[in-house]
Amino acid sequence: MPNELLNFIITSSLYAEYTIENNPGLEQLVQICNKQDRFEMFCPGCGDKKVFMYDGGFSDVTVKNIWNGLHSTGSLNATNYIKYDPLENTDHMYFRFKCSLNESHKLEYFFAKRGSKIIKVGQYPSSADIDLPQASRYSAILGRQYYNELKRSIGLHSHGIGIGSFVYLRRIIEKLVYDTFKEAEAAGVLTELQFEYQADGQHRNGIEEKIKLLKGSLPDLITDHPKIYGVVSKGIHELSEEECMKYFQVLKDGIVMILDDIVAKKEKERATAEYKKSLNEILSKIK
Ligand SMILES: [Zn+2]
Repeated sequence: MPNELLNFIITSSLYAEYTIENNPGLEQLVQICNKQDRFEMFCPGCGDKKVFMYDGGFSDVTVKNIWNGLHSTGSLNATNYIKYDPLENTDHMYFRFKCSLNESHKLEYFFAKRGSKIIKVGQYPSSADIDLPQASRYSAILGRQYYNELKRSIGLHSHGIGIGSFVYLRRIIEKLVYDTFKEAEAAGVLTELQFEYQADGQHRNGIEEKIKLLKGSLPDLITDHPKIYGVVSKGIHELSEEECMKYFQVLKDGIVMILDDIVAKKEKERATAEYKKSLNEILSKIK
């Protein structure tokens, strides 16, 4: 079962709230502190994805008390069960995680605590630094302007701004879809007429249909689920803050997937070109 509390700690926006239920919230807290539940995240220190594990934030006594509270049969079997909250007098929470490759690489998350609710009030490094695993390569593909918009979008989202962050993502998806079409057109796979107009001559407005047309050129996970991207075509007045927050992660992950795909293709082209070059050198010597 995925650890929902851990997921909230590492992915939530600033000022997002989460209620630590007793249970499974406290059980999940103990699993984090006992390093049973770890997670993969881009490590800015390593410049690569690494496994992170709990490194500190709670005293050993507190963790032990929570564990005892959860596992003492007495309190569970009592007819008049009174919820014992070992964190009752805590007004803040702090979690520090360390990179499995280099212990000096840390991720830190700060929360205010009001009752059983925790509210994210800070984190370091920022999510923009963690969320863009191949930053310099992405910047080369997207160009300076769109790359800065992607960073701005992640920054806005991490501050809980839904529609604002969404609008930037939408521009980037539209650009990537259009760029992909241009490549397909150059390869003779699609014409502008097919891409821009439906069979009945009507202008193709939705991005959903355009994504379907690009099967084989965009990652399969995207062309097989074009519906998700339908939200990209909605007018700004049709969008709600909640809807934008909800779709943000999946759209951002889609963008990263497309970019990773392009990076991999360029990498392959480069390797092929190098191989041809060394092949030609050898062939010219044989002659
Ligand atoms: Zn690291």
